[in-house]
Amino acid sequence: MKIIDLSQTLSSEMPVFPQDPDFLLKEILNSKKDDFTISVLNTGLHVGTHLDAPYHFYSKGRKVLEITLNEFMGPVKMVDVENSLRKSSSISNSYTGIETDPGVAIKASAFKNVKKGDIVVLKTGWSLKWGLKNYFTHNHYLSQQAANFLVKKEIRGLAIDGPSTDKFGETIIHKILLSNDIWIVENLKNLDLILPSKNEEETNSDNYDDNNNNKSLEFFFIPLPLKTEASPIRAFVRINEK
Ligand SMILES: [Zn+2]
Repeated sequence: MKIIDLSQTLSSEMPVFPQDPDFLLKEILNSKKDDFTISVLNTGLHVGTHLDAPYHFYSKGRKVLEITLNEFMGPVKMVDVENSLRKSSSISNSYTGIETDPGVAIKASAFKNVKKGDIVVLKTGWSLKWGLKNYFTHNHYLSQQAANFLVKKEIRGLAIDGPSTDKFGETIIHKILLSNDIWIVENLKNLDLILPSKNEEETNSDNYDDNNNNKSLEFFFIPLPLKTEASPIRAFVRINEK
């Protein structure tokens, strides 16, 4: 059994979404000079790897605590679009952090193998740009057709290795998914440790197929018990050899 952590480290140095409040973690007592250490955390909830619950956009939508833990764990459908995005974006240096082209819209056809009730984990490769200038503004995002397709398929949740399911400055994809009670996880990392990035020559399947593998993968996206619209989460995968 092996565990891979898919969560970004929460620290005062980490980048936060433009115009979101900073993450401030501060020790107000320290065991070296005081009897013990006590810290205070002041933060927005959309920091690091986090969950957006339907209440984020809909006053009648479910809050984090109203989604059962059951719904946040289990096998997932992993959809790997990293290689096709590299080809369709006009830039060859898209992962070096110096490009300024906007991200690419991911098409519905990428999700052709998704089934009802799936948790979908979308690998775009964007987490490699965490900490770089364009991370929050030039990410890849879902097309409206893709979002509507996932709604039709009645997926449980969608987790992505980028800052948003939307193009920067837009919210339509959040609205489509959350209004249909599909939760969203953003800012995953380490997906390449599960599904290594392919070479140019390898163009076979873009989907992880559990059946063709001698391993089974169980994912966990664990939020804090908060009665509100979002929560930082600990995301990880447990890999069991069959
Ligand atoms: Zn969010």
